[in-house]
Amino acid sequence: MAVPIGPYNVVIRAHIETVKLLSALLALLAFFGFATCGFAAAKRVPLPRPRPAEIARPEPPAEASAEEPAPSSACRLRLTAELAVAPSLPALIGPGECNVEDVVRLEAVWLADRTRVAVTPPAILRCSFAEAIVQWVREDLAPAVRAFGRPLKSVDNYAAYDCRGRNRIIGAKLSEHGKANALDVRSVKLASGSVIELTDPAADKDFRERVRKSTCARFTTVLGPGSDGYHENHVHVDLAERAGGHRMCQWDVREPGEEAVPLPPPRPAAAP
Ligand SMILES: [Zn+2]
Repeated sequence: MAVPIGPYNVVIRAHIETVKLLSALLALLAFFGFATCGFAAAKRVPLPRPRPAEIARPEPPAEASAEEPAPSSACRLRLTAELAVAPSLPALIGPGECNVEDVVRLEAVWLADRTRVAVTPPAILRCSFAEAIVQWVREDLAPAVRAFGRPLKSVDNYAAYDCRGRNRIIGAKLSEHGKANALDVRSVKLASGSVIELTDPAADKDFRERVRKSTCARFTTVLGPGSDGYHENHVHVDLAERAGGHRMCQWDVREPGEEAVPLPPPRPAAAP
């Protein structure tokens, strides 16, 4: 349809030009606005940047202090290189209650005659418990194996620090293993290479009787065959603190042919 627009045409065209100009201006403004914002944002970036550095700065001293609590510990001072190879470890940060400070990795015990008795594999233990193990090896195990005519070479570490419930039962009271205050031992090895299992009815009975007696005198908990069915093939020792100084010594030194106690069904409050 032909519309006689005449002067309107000029007006409309003028409007179109104005709109184009405005659009261009808006686009420019938008661009510069964005660029300005971007620039402003870019200018603001350096401000938060120093923060991570400031947060990160305390970390090295924290790690260093975690590795160096030992020198201040009386136990650490007693557990010298003359007695054991037991470097200090950072504090154990486990889930729940499994946090332990003053921790060592007990790799070996030095006997008085400078015989090195390895702990295989090295055991992660709290210093006070490692100290008790060192004394046990030096004063109880090493003298007991002299009857075999060969020096003690190593002590088996079946389990040491382990954040778990007693007898690995979920929900059970925290085991002393979770406090790095327990060790499970299956056997000892002599320099001749022979292995003596502490719970083997075929192993020398006098030796097992002697070790049982001294072990129960040293530790507050000793569990072996006949205790609860979970310790038929190893001996558990710990230094659990009990009301009234109560001690637990449950280790039957069996004769060959004696039957093992059948494993009980899982229960929530079993022994350690
Ligand atoms: Zn145990």
